[in-house]
Amino acid sequence: MPKAKAPVFFTPGPSKLHPKIGGYIKDALRGHIPSISHRGHEFEDIYAKCEEALRTLLGIPKSHHILFLASGNEGMERVIQNSVHKKSLHLVNGAFSKRFYDMALQYNKKPVKHEAAWGEGFAFNDLKVAPDIELIGVTHNESASGVMTPLSDIYKLAKANRHALIAIDVVSSIPYGSLDFRYLDYIIFSVQKGFGLPAGLGIIIVSDRALAKSQSLKDSGVSIGSYHSFPKMMALAARHQTPETPNVLNIYLLGRVAGDMIRKGTERIKKETDAKAALMYDFLDSNERFTSFVHSRELRSPTLFVIETNNEAAAIIAKAKKHGFILGGGYGMNKSTQIRIANYPQHTLAEFRSLIKFLKSI
Ligand SMILES: *Cc1c(COP(=O)(O)O)cnc(C)c1O
Repeated sequence: MPKAKAPVFFTPGPSKLHPKIGGYIKDALRGHIPSISHRGHEFEDIYAKCEEALRTLLGIPKSHHILFLASGNEGMERVIQNSVHKKSLHLVNGAFSKRFYDMALQYNKKPVKHEAAWGEGFAFNDLKVAPDIELIGVTHNESASGVMTPLSDIYKLAKANRHALIAIDVVSSIPYGSLDFRYLDYIIFSVQKGFGLPAGLGIIIVSDRALAKSQSLKDSGVSIGSYHSFPKMMALAARHQTPETPNVLNIYLLGRVAGDMIRKGTERIKKETDAKAALMYDFLDSNERFTSFVHSRELRSPTLFVIETNNEAAAIIAKAKKHGFILGGGYGMNKSTQIRIANYPQHTLAEFRSLIKFLKSI
């Protein structure tokens, strides 16, 4: 019997895995990495290598520190706990940015929000940040709506409001584009999207300024959490360790994948992503049946396409599956009308060509 062709996962996350992941997992098993102690030198070395690779890949300066968490969600929650005494401001234009705001409410903070409709951008010119705002939370790429907020707008907001810490969720955009760390205090992401890894590891990059804020909250008697408070994590990070038994396998795999991406270069990754995005948006703009939910060209995400389907989402997803394409469903209220397709570094131009050919044929 001929072997069935492996399906391609275009889902937002988990998604298609990095093409070398199988070999890296084999290396990990051969080296007994899932069994080693997280208090030994071997683990400290894996931790240090992963940290070093991320620093090189993303250009992380000495003023910023890398900490390992469990997920992107955890990143948002820890930021609220560790940096807000009373008031944060959230830019909300979809389900993920709203979750950040909701978490602040659930911690009994007094968050405010600046909203835009799903699929639209923010009116940055109308945004006034009160002097008592301690943190501004932004979702770079809103995975529910397919809007990528321009980094230049986020930096301008940061520059005009030096009194507030800036947290950016880059879960579904990283490693696309380069970040200017001068304007960012927290960078939140997880690994099951653009890094093409199995889920179960989150990363947060924290500035010196943000660490000082957690310490001052702690000193004034505010609870900033327990084993995953940033001062606690930093104390162990100095020895390349974590408070809990971490996802050692994924930390190892992330180091290997980041190493591979360094060899390729973020410039080339960006160029390839843009080329695949141009192909898809050209298709969406030139047929009647599938259209981009986001109209503004400046705001359309290159890494995640949210597509209107005239209420045929379920049928299209089922048909695509038969052809070996696993597509994502619309988010929440858009489940029956939209599909979502990820465009991460591991997705190839050839895969996009066949996907578009398939969409044209049905
Ligand atoms: C997927 C996603 C998250 C959630 O990440 P988890 O690792 O599942 O917690 C948060 N924000 C955005 C923008 C996402 O796309």
